[in-house]
Amino acid sequence: MIGLISATRAGERGCERLAAAWPDRTRVYAGPVGEAVQRAFAECEQLVCFLATGAVVRLLAPLLRGKDTDPGIVTVDEAHRHAVALLGGHGGGANALAGAVCEVLGSVPVVTTATDAVGTAGLDTLGLPAEGALAAVSRALLDGEPVALRADAVWPLPALPANVRAAEMDGDERGGGGGGGEFALRVTDRLVPLDGRTAVLRPASLVVGVGGSRGVPAEEVRELIGRSLADAGLSDRSVAALATVAAKAEEPGIVAAAEHFGVPLLTYPADALAAIEVPNPSAAPLAAVGTPSVAEAAALASAPGGELLVPKRKSAMATAAVARLRPRGRLAVVGLGPGARDLLTPRAAQELRRASVIVGLDQYVDQIRDLLRPGTRLLESGLGAEEERARTAVAEAREGHAVALIGSGDAGVYAMASPALAEAGADIDVAGVPGVTAALAAAAVLGAPLGHDHVSISLSDLHTPWEVIERRVRAAAEADLVVTFYNPRSRGRDWQLPKALGILGEHRAPTTPVGVVRAASRPDERSAVTTLATLDVTTVDMVTVVTIGNTATREVAGRMVTPRGYRWQAAPPGTESTEGTTNHQENQ
Ligand code: SAH
Repeated sequence: MIGLISATRAGERGCERLAAAWPDRTRVYAGPVGEAVQRAFAECEQLVCFLATGAVVRLLAPLLRGKDTDPGIVTVDEAHRHAVALLGGHGGGANALAGAVCEVLGSVPVVTTATDAVGTAGLDTLGLPAEGALAAVSRALLDGEPVALRADAVWPLPALPANVRAAEMDGDERGGGGGGGEFALRVTDRLVPLDGRTAVLRPASLVVGVGGSRGVPAEEVRELIGRSLADAGLSDRSVAALATVAAKAEEPGIVAAAEHFGVPLLTYPADALAAIEVPNPSAAPLAAVGTPSVAEAAALASAPGGELLVPKRKSAMATAAVARLRPRGRLAVVGLGPGARDLLTPRAAQELRRASVIVGLDQYVDQIRDLLRPGTRLLESGLGAEEERARTAVAEAREGHAVALIGSGDAGVYAMASPALAEAGADIDVAGVPGVTAALAAAAVLGAPLGHDHVSISLSDLHTPWEVIERRVRAAAEADLVVTFYNPRSRGRDWQLPKALGILGEHRAPTTPVGVVRAASRPDERSAVTTLATLDVTTVDMVTVVTIGNTATREVAGRMVTPRGYRWQAAPPGTESTEGTTNHQENQ
């Protein structure tokens, strides 16, 4: 719950706007502010105070306990100019809350957490639970002091700055902390002694298989899991999931144990578990649920290619076994949009900062360099090396890295997603981030040319035989589709566009509107609405898309408009309202 507090009318209005934006997550605390702050502090995970920062500091001072438990606090000034992340920037979520408040109120966020301000990964923003000397190691990261990275495996972490150096783990270091007094960052599911200079990130690497008789108490399951992990020297913060047989999917003690660890409960049919070879099969579960192993088999079923670290352990009514997952690399296929920064989606920006390796054409890497975390590895290549780029991206992900493969527009449209995913196996995770395509960006410049059925056709015959392209152009012409030509014309390929326009001209009037957009959304954008008869193809190059209307498309006030129905053919605009007469009203 987010507590909202104010002392003035202006503050009250701010509270109201936030409460209206987030009705289920907010509670307004009225009354004298001193008391209101106290109550909200005790009851809420986060507070937004429309009060002077100084006043809030004084009110909070006696209440503060520690950054693990205190709520995240944001203060907002009377004029709603600034939202200050005052306390609990990361752990309390105040930095993110300040950003969210700004989106509602139109204010500017003030974030002073050092790691956020310099764009470096704060240890607690790497997406993994972190523990140990977080403050000391974060400080060392920022100050550029050497930090030794010791990871049990390659995990798909975001980029770490250059002063973090991978260190070999020899036998001595395996158990120990930083060693030698240097700062160390460990990435491991093992329990390691902490020495004040070592921080530990916990990868989600362990799956605990559990079995239990009907009515097994939650506490017994929890304790057995806790002991199984601790005796094997493993951290419960690395538990990614519990797993069991389908018949136990609703067993309250097992369900409660999964909730306790804050992880999902994976379930498998008995015959799937029965097919898995395990070290300790037994007759009891075979009789009860139809598989000779529940705990070991469920753990292994969840960890393909992984290893069984803790064979079956038993308590009176429960069994547990622990398997370690093989790390999976991550390949994000990220569309950057047509060029303008504000047409690059927030999700794309987030994925770029989630990656430690960027693969892409050099000109696209240049576009987004400033968005990357320091230390991001850039694998840039020139035009034409598509297959190689795709292979490189997949190979890096296969090694366990977090890779972003970037492309302009949408990375799946005449771009890198297909060659990459043709290479990628089931052994890596893939995340696609859609982008605004050139066709869409151009359409927005031209007006509404894509208001009815439309198609994109690439005129590049480098990889596609011209006969195939021509067949598609002809089909689009006959089907009266609005057509957007990609890769329309280059110095060496100048006859294809006139030829394609000729084919469309066999089915459309010479007055059919044609939109030409060059460098859509970029500083040198140029556009024109012309017609099939008057288009000057020399204005078209390889940074251009050409959109040809269908037989119903009209130019209205200099804009290209394709009606949603075909009424305009019968009744041109002005003679009758087209709204309400189309047969697509239900889609509006
Ligand atoms: N993946 C991209 C398309 C890449 S193919 C997308 O989704 O948009 C390259 C072609 O896209 C170029 O030859 C040009 O026809 C078109 N193109 C890319 N960016 C463009 C822009 N900003 N303005 C106009 N056309 C563009």
